[in-house]
Amino acid sequence: MINIVIFGPPGSGKGTHSIKLAEKYQLFHLSTGDIFRYEINNKTPLGIEAKNYIDKGNLVPDDLVIKVLLSTLEKQKNAKGFIFDGFPRTIIQAQKLDEELNKKGIPINIVISLEVNDAEIITRLVKRGLDSGRSDDNETIIKQRLEIYKNQTAPLLDYYTKQNKLINIDGVGMIDNIFTNICNIIDDNF
Ligand code: AMP
Repeated sequence: MINIVIFGPPGSGKGTHSIKLAEKYQLFHLSTGDIFRYEINNKTPLGIEAKNYIDKGNLVPDDLVIKVLLSTLEKQKNAKGFIFDGFPRTIIQAQKLDEELNKKGIPINIVISLEVNDAEIITRLVKRGLDSGRSDDNETIIKQRLEIYKNQTAPLLDYYTKQNKLINIDGVGMIDNIFTNICNIIDDNF
């Protein structure tokens, strides 16, 4: 069992590398952003509520996000491990995640932090918005998401450093090279 958090600002490549890691290490890929987008597309009550926050570039409130976490963990009881992508995003979420995983005796093993500068993020996300049509990938909302990342999510770097779990990886460059660096870290540690 291995549980990995893939961490970083929006547009740092968390989703791309999570998909590859899930396949290589046979982990369940838990992306709260993907879950919310699925719920929004299906116009469920959760999706309708989440959309109010997502479209403005704000975080979905912790209680809703934690509900999604708990129901996914319950549904995926037999998973060989998890890759948490875009979760946790607040200290409260991180504490709840620790609490749930510790109860099950399957703690987070490692937190991979992808480091990408703001200018690169804005360029990547504006481009992604043109291709994907994601409502939150436009320059005004991207800047808001970056602000929220700095204020509410970046403090988790300290939280996981104190737990001795944080590994920084340069997230700029060729995807395959970055992925190799991530895998080397995982293979060296487990
Ligand atoms: P992502 O696909 O991870 O970039 O998430 C897209 C949007 O979904 C974010 O900008 C938030 O509005 C919302 N979201 C996803 N995960 C979380 C989370 N863990 N906590 C709060 N909001 C989230």
